[in-house]
Amino acid sequence: MATKIEWTDETFNPQVGCNRYCKGCDKCYAIRMANRLQAQGYVKYQGVVHKNHKDELDWTGKINFAPKVLSEGVRSLSTPSMIFINSMSDTFHRNVSDDQIDWYINLIKNTPQHVYQVLTKRHERIAQLDMELPENMWLGVSVCSKSDLKAIDGLRSSSAKVKFLSLEPLIEDLGKLNLADVDWVIVGGESGPSARGMDPDWVRSIRDQCLSARVPLFFKQWGTAHAEWQIVEGKRKRVKQPPMIDGKYWLQFPTDHPAVNRKRRDVISTYTRSELAPYRVRA
Ligand code: SF4
Repeated sequence: MATKIEWTDETFNPQVGCNRYCKGCDKCYAIRMANRLQAQGYVKYQGVVHKNHKDELDWTGKINFAPKVLSEGVRSLSTPSMIFINSMSDTFHRNVSDDQIDWYINLIKNTPQHVYQVLTKRHERIAQLDMELPENMWLGVSVCSKSDLKAIDGLRSSSAKVKFLSLEPLIEDLGKLNLADVDWVIVGGESGPSARGMDPDWVRSIRDQCLSARVPLFFKQWGTAHAEWQIVEGKRKRVKQPPMIDGKYWLQFPTDHPAVNRKRRDVISTYTRSELAPYRVRA
């Protein structure tokens, strides 16, 4: 399904349901969305969200699978695409079986024309993956605060050919990052009601470290806390800041896979070239 996520082309959710795992999950947008779809009667979403003991919306921990969403979705794509799997769950959640993970990996291996982006907070489980991952499976970990930094070591221990970090929502300064064997970094602020703010200096520090380690950087957004109230077509609206750091967009991608080259062209054509940081940092 076409998506608004800037660093991919398509998002498919062959599984839904989760549990909060770290501070980055505190304002999980997927819970609200899943609750709405559950209330609307969508079968895939039944039983995944409830009100917890504090009377707040929360995941139940139930994972619902709908593998055809991915297999048929991929079959419908006519061009090489970048595909983000599971924005409404975590592929490596404890209630996902090893057989189900094998199913994903086989599907990815058998469709090499696409690039699959698999992002997890469960780094312990990827460290246990005892298999060669296909070249077109990019594996990423979420790092939102210093307490998540150990996830980068878990990622490093995997056999993924492209390893990436999603530093979103960035909720504190991460300090010095070990970017050895990291191929790509995405950064973004938090979206949604009562979103936490992101200090520009935290972002500058990541940019500088990516530059010095020659790791491509994709700066996605400043987040809702940095949006400004403006009058647009007669209505008062919150308008997001353009995703620039000190006057430049950072929209870099790793690798020259045809799906990535296509995405790179699309992204670059939406921005003014003169404002772009170089889009290739690795030969
Ligand atoms: S891992 Fe993702 S989907 Fe699961 S609770 Fe955290 S933010 Fe939400």
